[in-house]
Amino acid sequence: MNKAKALGKKDLNDTRTPTERLVEFAENFKGNGIKREEDLAWRQQSVDKRLAHAMVHGMTQFIVEDTEEIRQQIADRNGRPIEVIEGPLMDGMNIVGDLFGEGKMFLPQVVKSARVMKQAVGHLIPFIEAEKKLIEAAGGDVRAKGKIVIATVKGDVHDIGKNIVTVVLQCNNFEVVNMGVMVPAAEILARAKAEKADIVGLSGLITPSLEEMAYVASEMQRDEYFRSRKIPLMIGGATTSRVHTAVKIAPHYEGPVIYVPDASRSVGVAQNLVSETANTYLEELAVEYEDVRRRHAARKATPLMSLVDARAAKLAIDWAGYTPPRPKFIGRRTFKNFDLAELASYIDWTPFFQTWSLFGQYPAILDDKIVGEQARSVLADGQAMLKRMVDGRWLTANGVAAFYPANTINDDDIEIYTDETREKVLFTWRGLRQQGMKREGVENKCLADFIAPKESGVMDYIGLFAVTAGLGIEKKEQEFERANDDYSAIMFKSLADRCAEAFAEALHARVRKDIWGYVPDEALTNEQMIKEAYQGIRPAPGYPACPEHVVKREMFEVLDGADIGMMLTESYAMHPAASVSGFYFSHPQSQYFSVGIIGDDQVADYVKRSGRTEKDVKRTLAPNLG
Ligand code: SAH
Repeated sequence: MNKAKALGKKDLNDTRTPTERLVEFAENFKGNGIKREEDLAWRQQSVDKRLAHAMVHGMTQFIVEDTEEIRQQIADRNGRPIEVIEGPLMDGMNIVGDLFGEGKMFLPQVVKSARVMKQAVGHLIPFIEAEKKLIEAAGGDVRAKGKIVIATVKGDVHDIGKNIVTVVLQCNNFEVVNMGVMVPAAEILARAKAEKADIVGLSGLITPSLEEMAYVASEMQRDEYFRSRKIPLMIGGATTSRVHTAVKIAPHYEGPVIYVPDASRSVGVAQNLVSETANTYLEELAVEYEDVRRRHAARKATPLMSLVDARAAKLAIDWAGYTPPRPKFIGRRTFKNFDLAELASYIDWTPFFQTWSLFGQYPAILDDKIVGEQARSVLADGQAMLKRMVDGRWLTANGVAAFYPANTINDDDIEIYTDETREKVLFTWRGLRQQGMKREGVENKCLADFIAPKESGVMDYIGLFAVTAGLGIEKKEQEFERANDDYSAIMFKSLADRCAEAFAEALHARVRKDIWGYVPDEALTNEQMIKEAYQGIRPAPGYPACPEHVVKREMFEVLDGADIGMMLTESYAMHPAASVSGFYFSHPQSQYFSVGIIGDDQVADYVKRSGRTEKDVKRTLAPNLG
């Protein structure tokens, strides 16, 4: 009988590093899944080698039968089913983890390896459960390395990154309770207690989630259970950062608060937190974060000019010599069941690779010396799934666009009217102006600069839109999850995101060429569109030129988002997650910029103009207050 040690760490005579073992192993079995016939040579090997091979190569084809074979072998010598996981499966996963850590393996491969692991574990679970009952009945303890309760915070719906972290941690023998999206603080805390979690993990993408994470931290502080145990809090997600974590979140909680820059780091952080040397790790971290806070505090405040001076330095368009184009209709129009095949041709693939932690511009990334092979492989998988999505109508894409007369008031606000009499205001979009010190001749911009001021007498227009490609994705996603196929679940979601962005691009092109029609003859390639070589912009609330999300409430009322199956969370995140919304500006000089840090004078002025409370304004503008 073969003992599970061919690639294992349990053989004390084996002094090879995991990589050396893998290299030797791989040399024996050349081929990377492309040359089918030769490939099957690996099937002739002992079962533990076959398992390791399947893990490293991410092959699920034979995993259940191989797992069962090795389980029986172990059972025959009175071993426990868990030994299959602790032995050959973990050995395989360790190799994957090491290679990933060394930059020799990439995220898509790891997620594929995890799929192999999960399917093997899926097969073993009934046997382990049966045994667990026996052990527990005898008073024994059966715990994983540690337990983590992880959630996307209230108001946020993005979870691809969190799901990747879950997979990566699970295959490193952590027990992860993934609570999903939009989870209120009270529920996270209650669950963490009920599960006796060793660590709590928070994820979020949009800026309001930063505030929500600070709130969760303060709730943990208020709760004796967390405060006394100092349960660590891990923070992750696209808008989070080490500085934000150290400066804005950590001070709310006396337990450790740790920023996790990406999925690959989550394992190291979690392992440090549950290890015997956790205290040393935490002491070092505390020193590091204290240093981050000190440097942040010592940072010179960004020099700002007064709002009055900034307004005087606006981008001044000569409206007297300009007639804004008129859209073909005033009001809203829906685009339900938009053709998915048409959308697919507008996809920008570069962010798709980012989701998989492969960095580089498409298409050059395909020839990249380091990540090229993986990029080609994940793109091939993505395109194959995209075809099945389109053919099988796995999701529905709905959109809505609306056009209204608009003029600028108070220098910085855009008044949007119900019709061309301009008698009735639909709503006023409050704008923010750059206040940074600029070189001579460089303007201090505000989006309102690109719309004709009321006093000019010029009739101008603005567009609003919302599109989604996330309708009905749950069914397919759950199908993948039930089949222990996180790779496909994550792939599917990332493609839905791509389709939503592509929808925004496709609709915008139609707007420019037809609906607003100010460039009827535009003939741009997809690449040129991705580079935004067109006239006009489609700024999105929450992005640098209009960092506040709150205007989405009014946008969605006017657009009637519910009519196309879209809604907003309490933090103004769009649901479904694969959605995009924004405004359309047509003026040739309109451009993207970043508002950046604003001064107290602008905050006060904004409070006055908007009629909102100072507290509320300061909360929603927190990222721009320095
Ligand atoms: N091709 C990309 C497009 C998304 S990013 C993709 O497929 O993911 C570009 C979009 O972000 C713009 O169309 C705009 O809606 C928004 N955006 C970018 N910079 C912005 C800024 N400074 N202010 C407001 N919106 C911005």
